[in-house]
Amino acid sequence: MTAAPPVSSTGPPVALTIAGSDSGGGAGLQADLRTFTACGVHGCVAVTAVTVQNSMGVMGIVEIPPSTVANQIRAVVTDLGVAAAKTGMLASAAIICAVAGVCDEISIGRCRVVPLVVDPVAASMHGDPLLADDALTVLRSELLPRATLITPNLDEVRLLVGMDIGSPAEQYEAARALHALGPRWVLVKGGHLRDGAQRKNPPKKNPPKKNSQCLDVLYDGREFTAFTGPRLATPHTHGSGDTLAAAITSALARGAAVPEAVTYGKRYIAQALAHAYPLGAGVGPVSPFWRVRPD
Ligand code: PLP
Repeated sequence: MTAAPPVSSTGPPVALTIAGSDSGGGAGLQADLRTFTACGVHGCVAVTAVTVQNSMGVMGIVEIPPSTVANQIRAVVTDLGVAAAKTGMLASAAIICAVAGVCDEISIGRCRVVPLVVDPVAASMHGDPLLADDALTVLRSELLPRATLITPNLDEVRLLVGMDIGSPAEQYEAARALHALGPRWVLVKGGHLRDGAQRKNPPKKNPPKKNSQCLDVLYDGREFTAFTGPRLATPHTHGSGDTLAAAITSALARGAAVPEAVTYGKRYIAQALAHAYPLGAGVGPVSPFWRVRPD
């Protein structure tokens, strides 16, 4: 099969998310699609899994057959002219292998026609697993080397390279270790960093406070770029990782280079966090409404 056809010069650029569905609408492909819209790109989707989920957590997961995931990607990329793609929840080793295979077949990924952002989603913020334990090895070996950019948070850094980040300085070390796994660019997101050590399970009683400043480190194997900003104090952060990666993907679809796309995504997620809202009895979502408003 040939590379994606050229992007239409009359309609908006097209971005693809390869992701799971969140029935609560706060994260997953729902967050990706509304971010794509708010960022001026047409969103299309290859569904990987359907989660039964609300603001309290994930109660069930049904995986889509790997061949159906691959066929969805093939169908849209060969017809719609996808300009950038991202992955979110991939659920299983078999789905990751199917995605990696089809990416090669139709020129998605590192140094290819269509840039690929890999958000290595492993668990929800409530700790519900969104990736099978035995899928980590293939995520490392099959997908990360195909990524234009990976966007792990500190929990995902620990899973991928076994580093427990306790200080901003260690984020630079982690970026080096992750880059050695093969992606073209790495963005280590420091939003979960707590004073003192980043802990897998911070004590419920008096947990160390999250840092008042956030640092994200972008690395391409040669240069580091630091993105710093004040922590936005909201308990409603559901979908924040997906939304950042989707905003970056939107900018890539519009032709931005990776550093500019990350700058754009950081600005977008800062506003989405500033406008996050409570929903349900648990954790509410970050909001695209700072940009999208009813008439
Ligand atoms: N559900 C789905 C389907 C997701 O893809 C994700 C993240 O990618 C989540 C839940 C987790 O979102 P959060 O960690 O913001 O709760």
